[in-house]
Amino acid sequence: MKDLLKKLVQADTTADKGEIKGAELIKEDLEKSSVACEIDIWDENRANVFAHVKSSGERGALLFVCHIDVVPPGNEEWVNPPFSGMEKEGKIYGRGSVDMKGGTVGIVIAIKEIVESGVDLKGDLMFVATAGEETDSCGVRRFVDSFGGKMPALAGVIIPEPTNFEVITSHRGLFWVKISTRGKTAHGSMPYLGINAISLMNSLLTELDKYKRGITGGLSMSINTISGGEAVNVVPDECSIGIDFRTTPEYTYGRIISDLEDIFSKLKSENPDFNAEINIVRQVGSLNSDIESEFVKDFCQIVSAQETTSANYATDGPFVAEFSAPVVICGPGDPQLCHKPDECIDFCDIKKAAGYYKELILKYLT
Ligand SMILES: [Zn+2]
Repeated sequence: MKDLLKKLVQADTTADKGEIKGAELIKEDLEKSSVACEIDIWDENRANVFAHVKSSGERGALLFVCHIDVVPPGNEEWVNPPFSGMEKEGKIYGRGSVDMKGGTVGIVIAIKEIVESGVDLKGDLMFVATAGEETDSCGVRRFVDSFGGKMPALAGVIIPEPTNFEVITSHRGLFWVKISTRGKTAHGSMPYLGINAISLMNSLLTELDKYKRGITGGLSMSINTISGGEAVNVVPDECSIGIDFRTTPEYTYGRIISDLEDIFSKLKSENPDFNAEINIVRQVGSLNSDIESEFVKDFCQIVSAQETTSANYATDGPFVAEFSAPVVICGPGDPQLCHKPDECIDFCDIKKAAGYYKELILKYLT
């Protein structure tokens, strides 16, 4: 199974390249153990892979949700090339080894062993590895939509993201917006004939700074991009910023949008030339699984976790939470290595994960 992980790492599945190669490797491997898989392809190179081991259906199903895509290697130097899948002292190196091709291989091992053992399943065992988790959640949205509300009743959902076997049951949502101020171009020597979009943005930034200082209750806000202007001698007619909000159940998208609109109105009342618009770039809800549920408690017991925790990052979890089952995030690998050069995972941890997932499957589905 080390081979599968190496090949998966070698398959560059950044959003630009797409996920087909990764999906094919997973399908090929599961089919060696007679697990039927389907690959869903769209937009030429985007792909999800889905396996469904059917059962008598007496018990609620389990759904494992992975993602195939990885973030780009970045500009920092890697000692071990990002798509080499190099092995050193039991560790596999490369982009995606931790986030989250390692966890994916963990559940693939578990499914193969369960199916090969010939054990009778009383609940369905489902696995999906999606596209675009790192960018726009396109894969998981497509997966959820494909069921059209007809997903079998689920006992629980597991996301094998790297957590070093901590059990994560909640995280904030994310809400990315682009705000553009609109002005009017003019010759740089006659600025009074134009409306300077950068000046408008300056007034907005001052207000956003005040807003940020007033935020409470776990919402965070960071203005992370800015662009505007075409040439030094032209009054700019557009200036844009990108803001990363991390939301909580109390601070929803709707509340943020309405707060932003209030700021725009205030600025417009002070300066009739003020003009700005909001474009939503990405939104993912927050995750809040019921930690008192039997599934979460059983899961913690299997992985010997004393308690559950929250993640700083967002996952595909909130989308699959729509299936009305508790979602846990737990898998092999050090989360601090995610998205960094020389990302690596110890193969022993993957085997350990496979053991936990198998135990859960046997407990819940037999
Ligand atoms: Zn991930």
